[in-house]
Amino acid sequence: MSEVLDTEIKFLPGVGPKRAEILEEEAEIFTFRDLLSCFPYRYIDKTRIYSIKDLDTLMQYVQLKGHISRFSTEGAGSGKRLVADFHDSTGMVKLVWFKGLKWITSNYKINTEYIIFGKPSLFSGSFNIVHPEIEEADKKAARVSSAFEAQYSTTEKMKDHFLNTRAIAKLIAACFSHPGMVITETLPEDIIKRLNLISLSDALFKIHFPDSNEDIERARYRLKFEELFYIQLNLMRYKNRRDKVKHGFVFSVVGERLNGFYHNALPFPLTEAQKRVIREIRTDLGSGRQMNRLLQGDVGSGKTMVALMNMLIAADNGFQSCLMAPTEVLAIQHHETIARYVKELDVKVALLTGSTKKRERGEIESGLLDGSINILIGTHALIEENVRYSNLGFVVIDEQHRFGVAQRAKLWQKNECPPHVLVMTATPIPRTLAMTLYGDLDVSVIDQLPPGRRPVKTMAFTDAEREKVFGFMRRQIADGRQVYVVYPLIKESETLDYKDLEDGLESIARAFPPPKYAISVVHGKMNSRDKEISMNQFRSGQTHIMVATTVIEVGVDVPNASVMVIESAERFGLSQLHQLRGRVGRGADQSYCILMTARKLSSDATARIETIVGSTDGFEIAEADLKMRGPGDLEGTQQSGMAFDLHIADLGKDGQILSIARNIAEEIIDADSDLVQPGNKVLRINLHRIFGRKYSWSEIS
Ligand code: ADP
Ligand code: MG
Repeated sequence: MSEVLDTEIKFLPGVGPKRAEILEEEAEIFTFRDLLSCFPYRYIDKTRIYSIKDLDTLMQYVQLKGHISRFSTEGAGSGKRLVADFHDSTGMVKLVWFKGLKWITSNYKINTEYIIFGKPSLFSGSFNIVHPEIEEADKKAARVSSAFEAQYSTTEKMKDHFLNTRAIAKLIAACFSHPGMVITETLPEDIIKRLNLISLSDALFKIHFPDSNEDIERARYRLKFEELFYIQLNLMRYKNRRDKVKHGFVFSVVGERLNGFYHNALPFPLTEAQKRVIREIRTDLGSGRQMNRLLQGDVGSGKTMVALMNMLIAADNGFQSCLMAPTEVLAIQHHETIARYVKELDVKVALLTGSTKKRERGEIESGLLDGSINILIGTHALIEENVRYSNLGFVVIDEQHRFGVAQRAKLWQKNECPPHVLVMTATPIPRTLAMTLYGDLDVSVIDQLPPGRRPVKTMAFTDAEREKVFGFMRRQIADGRQVYVVYPLIKESETLDYKDLEDGLESIARAFPPPKYAISVVHGKMNSRDKEISMNQFRSGQTHIMVATTVIEVGVDVPNASVMVIESAERFGLSQLHQLRGRVGRGADQSYCILMTARKLSSDATARIETIVGSTDGFEIAEADLKMRGPGDLEGTQQSGMAFDLHIADLGKDGQILSIARNIAEEIIDADSDLVQPGNKVLRINLHRIFGRKYSWSEIS
C-alpha cells in the first residue's frame, strides 16, 4: 500500500532535486515520513515577551516587542555592520547585522511595531542581538503559529543550502498541508484507548508545532511508546516462532569428553551459580528445540568455563561448536585456555581470525568440513560466508554487544537445522538495553563470583602523581605481582593512540629498566602472531608489565596480574573502565585499579571517575552509564550496538514505557502469534514496514 507519507522528499514543494540530495545525505530524509520523523531536539518558548530592562546575560533566546528608532553602519571592511537601536518602554538594545544590510534597511521601517527574537549578548556595556528574527507585531498576531518553536539539528552543509531550523519547520508545515496528506494510524484502536494515547497524526503535528508543554509531553509519550512497542513486538514474534519450531539438535549423550574433563581436568570446583546455569543450558540442549539463551554474569564470574563444558557436550554428541570473541586478543586467549584445558582429551580445538595465514586457514577449513575439528575459536571471521562446518551444533558469542537479532540471524544460514546459540555478556547490561537487544532470548544469570575474590581497590591520580604510582608498581612487582598499563584507543585515530602508547612506553621503560624489569606490549597494529607471543610472555610471568591499548579491554585473564593502571582514564566510558578493571582481581590477592587523569576534568568525566571509584557492581555501573549519557543520545545507543537507531525513545529514561510496551507486545503475540486477527492487521503492516527490509524472517526458522 503506498501512502502519501512514502512520497519522495524531492516532490515536496520547496524542496526540489538539489535540496533533496542534501536532506538525504545529511539527515537521511528520503520521504515525507522521514521528514516528519525528524524530531526537534528542543523548543523555544515564544509565549513570553520580555522587557528590555529585565535582560540578563544568562538568557538564551528572548522575544521583545518595540520599535527601531534609527539605523547606522559601524566598522569597515569585513567588520562592517548595520546597527539598529531598538526600544521598548523600558530600555534600548542594539540589533546587529553583518550580512544583507541593504535588504534590511529597505524592508524594516523606523517606528513600526515589531516583535523580535534572538539571543542577547552583552557588548561594551549594552545588550546586542545579532541577526534577530523580526516580524511586524500585527502580522505575527494574525499568523497561526505555535507557542513553542521547535529547534532541529542541522549540519553546516544544510545551513549552506538554507536548510536551517526555520526552513525545516517550514518544510514540515508544507508536508502537513500537502494535498491528499493522510496520516494513517499505526497502532490498534484498543491500545490507544487503553493507554490513553493521542493519535499518530496528532502526535506528529504536536511534536513539531506544540502549543503547550502538555502537548509536547503527550506527543513524545505516544511516539516513544510506538517506537519501543514495535521493537518489542518484533522480538516477541521471533521468540514465539522459534519456540514453536520443534527442530533443534538433541544433545542427549553425556560422554567421554565431558566426563573426562569433569573428573580429571576441572581446574577448580564450580560455583553454585555456574552449576545452575550449566544445568539450565543442558536442559535446553536436550529439549529438541533450538536454544537461544543469554548468559549474563559480571566480569570475572567464570562464563568461559560454562561455555566450555557445553561445547564438550556438543562434541560428545558428534557436533562442532564455535566460540566467537570480539577481539583477536581475546580469541587468542580463549584458544590458549581452552586448548590447555582439553589437552588430555580427544578434542581438537582450532583458532581462526582475520590474520590466520592462508595455508593454516586451508587446513582449518578442511578440518571443519571433515569434522575433525570439534571446537573453533575466533573473531568475526567465524561467520564469514566461506567458513563451512560439517555439523555445527553450538555457537557461543562472547562479549559482543553488537550481536542483536539481525546479526544472530546470519548464523542460521549456515545450517539447515539452526545451531544452539549462547550469547555471553558481562557488565550486566542495563535491563532496558538487554530487553531491547536481546529481548527474544531466554536468560541465565551467574550471580556469584568464584570464592576468595577480594573487591578491587580503585583510586584516581593525576599525571603529576606519576612517580608515586610508579613506586607502587615497583612494590607490587617486588611482591611477585604483574601490572597492566592501558592507553585509550580511539577508532578514528589509530596513529594518535599509537603515539600515546609509544610515549608512555618510553617513560615506563625508563622507570622500569632491564634486566630487573621486563615489559610486554600489545596493540592493534601488531599481527596476531606477535600479539600471541606478547600475551604468552605476560601470562607465563616472564614479563612484569603489560603495556597495551584497549585491545585487552575485554576478557583477558591473567590471575597473577594485580594492578591495572588506566592512562587518560577520563577518555573512557564507564562500562569500558569496568571491563578494564575486571582484568585484575582474578586471583586471591588484593588487586588495584589506578585511574590516571588530567588535572582538569569536565564535569562528565569527574562523574564517571567518581562512579567507578565508588562502585564495583557492574550492574550499578551500567545503569549509571546509561543515565549519564543524557537525553536522546543517539550515539549512546549506537555505541551499545543496537541494530537500529532509536529516534525518540531513550533507554536511560524510558524504562517504564519500555516495560509497558513489552507487556502489551507479549500479550498480543500470546493471543495471536501470527497477527492474523483483523484488529492486528495494522501491526503486521507496520512490522513489515519497519523491519521487513532489514532481515527476512524466513532466515530465522
Ligand atoms: P568472565 O565471566 O569475565 O568471562 P572468566 O571466564 O574469564 O570470566 O573467568 C575469570 C577467572 O575466574 C578465570 O581465571 C577463571 O579461570 C576463574 N574461574 C572461573 N570459574 C571459577 C571457579 N568456579 N572457581 C575459581 N576460579 C574460577
Ligand atoms: Mg569472558
